Amino acid sequence: MKYISTRGNCPEQSFEQVLLAGMAPDGGLYVPANLPHYSVEEINSWKSLNYAELAMKIVAPFVNGEIPDAELQRIIEESYSEFDHDEVAPLSSLGGNDYLLELYHGPTLAFKDFALQVLGRLLDYVLKENDQRVVILGATSGDTGSAALEGCRHSDHVDIFILHPHNRVSEVQRRQMTTVMGDNVFNLAVEGNFDDCQSIVKAAFADQSFLPEDRQLVAVNSINWARIMMQIVYYFSAALKVGGPENEVSFSVPTGNFGDIFAGYLAKKMGLPISQLIVATNKNDILHRFISRNDYSATNLSHTYSPSMDILVSSNFERYLFDLFARDGEALTEFMSRFGKEALSVTNKQFSEVQSCFSSASVDDDQTCAVIAQVKQDIGKLLDPHSAVGVKAARDCNNNPDIPMITLATAHPAKFSDAIAAAGLETPELPPHLQDLFQREEHYSVVNNSLSEVTEFVASHARK
Ligand SMILES: *Cc1c(COP(=O)(O)O)cnc(C)c1O
Repeated sequence: MKYISTRGNCPEQSFEQVLLAGMAPDGGLYVPANLPHYSVEEINSWKSLNYAELAMKIVAPFVNGEIPDAELQRIIEESYSEFDHDEVAPLSSLGGNDYLLELYHGPTLAFKDFALQVLGRLLDYVLKENDQRVVILGATSGDTGSAALEGCRHSDHVDIFILHPHNRVSEVQRRQMTTVMGDNVFNLAVEGNFDDCQSIVKAAFADQSFLPEDRQLVAVNSINWARIMMQIVYYFSAALKVGGPENEVSFSVPTGNFGDIFAGYLAKKMGLPISQLIVATNKNDILHRFISRNDYSATNLSHTYSPSMDILVSSNFERYLFDLFARDGEALTEFMSRFGKEALSVTNKQFSEVQSCFSSASVDDDQTCAVIAQVKQDIGKLLDPHSAVGVKAARDCNNNPDIPMITLATAHPAKFSDAIAAAGLETPELPPHLQDLFQREEHYSVVNNSLSEVTEFVASHARK
């Protein structure tokens, strides 16, 4: 399997090259040149596999033998043995035909662990083989940071710098990042919002001359293809538990950077019979406006109870647009060059394709809290605010109650006590391995919203 850029202006890359990169040099994102496709019979034959075995089946073709199968299998098994649930991604019932896919049983209590536990180990393996050291630079709206630190901190081959928006992540999220110890681990609190952090990271990747010699930047944001790849697995796993692939299933996905839902879109293209794919957004609704009325224009950022989705521009959406533009990198480049300057729309034909592929909803904070309170009362389950946005969107968009509707529960409620309190409920306890989180010592540096301040910090703190 080879990888190409969405802007169509760079040579094909191997899996390893894509793993060790950020964006493509032409400014695009890497996508597989083609996708494997599986028949219903083939998917059916995976029913008896455990999660790690299923992951191996789905991921191996994308890795293309560049990491020996035995190593890949070890990496996947070790990664998912860190989860505190036997099934790794268990499904629970929300009543009737509605389900919750619990993706918060990993070490940092959010779905980001599914990819970043594996990504850290993949990097470690490849860097060791190459006798190479790299600098990881990432921006986080809250959950990527801790998952990346947790996944990568053991590697001698990386120095890791994570930018988060100062005072804009929850206290548990911040502490999960700032209490990670290691002389290769650095947290930077940027005086700005998540999009500012993302812009700094993007600019740093574009000009890496500030780095020590022999180093390059590696991305841990969902622009890194390996993250998307690992997230395809749980769509198959969940569908197989509720009558798939003989019967269709639907998914509702709380969405920020469009990484998670893009993995669902790929699962469908790979042959998994999916009826609806619901893009669940909070008040930051650019994707909902595009999907519901062909309006792709940025607005101002709102800070909501679901901070991991407080994102103006979803970087991974470009990967979908590439398909929508029939993989014409030049046409997509032209389209993207106008973004931010004017309200964009696509042709009627493209728009009907969008609408046949996705449904969408935008859920505000009041509705989010109401759903948290109601689900708690009805079935005793405490949802985190992101998952609540997903549940509400599933209810609003469901067009066939006979088809199982699976909402991705992307985080554990203990990470977001503000929203839980606003819903009139008591904050749940953190799991045992995080019980002393509020006693641990924090380490982070506050910096201005400035590219040069960040790059100077990285240059002076990366190990020599
Ligand atoms: C990252 C995150 C999301 C959004 O996922 P994307 O892949 O960026 O769309 C949703 N919920 C939680 C809890 C997250 O951490």
